[in-house]
Amino acid sequence: MLTILKKIFFVDLIRGLLVTFRYQHPKNIYTEQYPAERPKIAERYRGAPRLNINPETGETLCIACNLCALACPEQLIVVTSERNEVTKRKELTKFTYDLSRCMFCGLCEDACPVDALELTQDFELASYTREGAIWDRQMLEEGPKPIWYRY
Ligand code: SF4
Ligand code: SF4
Repeated sequence: MLTILKKIFFVDLIRGLLVTFRYQHPKNIYTEQYPAERPKIAERYRGAPRLNINPETGETLCIACNLCALACPEQLIVVTSERNEVTKRKELTKFTYDLSRCMFCGLCEDACPVDALELTQDFELASYTREGAIWDRQMLEEGPKPIWYRY
């Protein structure tokens, strides 16, 4: 009898709705409000690659040794260089990194002997074209510039 009455008066439905309305208050919202609020990224997260430069001289730290390209299982890094006839050192001429094929394993970062290549905590890597996923040296040095939305 009780079960029938519960069904007639939609008791379970009303209970369910009460739970729903109880959690409508903003203090009970658990969903991340991205992009209005930026999420906390784990310390060891591996995201956008960056080619570090010397902050004092503005020169790249990369010595064009090509180890990152050799370490990459996807072979998506291309490093080109030319020998400076005066210093006899190799100088970086081109560095490209195809993000669309990267699995962010970090092997390239580990292989770099001078900490020039680093996978940062930047996670906004979307682009409208496939070509946009291929980052050149300038992009790698400057890093992504995501839009900060404010409401
Ligand atoms: S993170 Fe892994 S897949 Fe991506 S470029 Fe480095 S070595 Fe290659
Ligand atoms: S391993 Fe480091 S220094 Fe060597 S080419 Fe790659 S980024 Fe440059």
